[in-house]
Amino acid sequence: MKPDFSKSGGLIPAIIQDADTAQVLMLGYMNEAALQQTRDTGWVTFFSRSRNSLWVKGATSGNRLRVVAMCVDCDGDTLLVKARPSGPVCHTGQYSCFGAAESKGFLYRLEALIAERLELAPETSYTSRLAARGVNKVAQKVGEEAVELVIEAIDDNRELFINEAADLLYHLLLLLQVKSVSLAEVEAELMRRNEQKSRP
Ligand code: AMP
Ligand code: ZN
Ligand code: ZN
Ligand code: ZN
Repeated sequence: MKPDFSKSGGLIPAIIQDADTAQVLMLGYMNEAALQQTRDTGWVTFFSRSRNSLWVKGATSGNRLRVVAMCVDCDGDTLLVKARPSGPVCHTGQYSCFGAAESKGFLYRLEALIAERLELAPETSYTSRLAARGVNKVAQKVGEEAVELVIEAIDDNRELFINEAADLLYHLLLLLQVKSVSLAEVEAELMRRNEQKSRP
């Protein structure tokens, strides 16, 4: 399906979605030139109806949107742009024009953050330092955090239990990355099991 600019006076709405968390970030309009520039540069570019010109989102604020994927809806009159924001998308400073970040999907943001940390020198990042010590060390750390979680499960301190659960999830995400396994692959396995169960 190709975008059809003829139906709506040369402008079609572009829904911007966070490629990592799937949250809706904002809505803008693109004409053919804006779409072309978005494709050519990899940075989301709208047509500003108020300024009557092309608008590279983030040109002044610095909060640009890096295109990850784009698709057109069923009848070609709406674009969906999956993008990675480099800062708050809304001019009010909020994560999204529809409000603050939700916790749903944050594990995917964290996964992306861990990937960034692994690019840093070990001296500057705990994550990078731990990973540099090798897969066995990371796996051992996951084991330790699991044991700490078990201890807090038996104990009756809700706050400490949540703390240890967070430690475990964080280190598990790191272990997955060290093993080159994505969170999506683990979710796909869980989804596959769920499918099998719900079959008649
Ligand atoms: P920016 O493109 O982020 O550099 O912002 C430039 C100007 O565009 C801002 O001063 C706002 O007037 C407007 N603007 C930026 N982000 C949004 C948004 N998400 N929705 C509507 N207007 C925006
Ligand atoms: Zn449509
Ligand atoms: Zn906004
Ligand atoms: Zn811990």
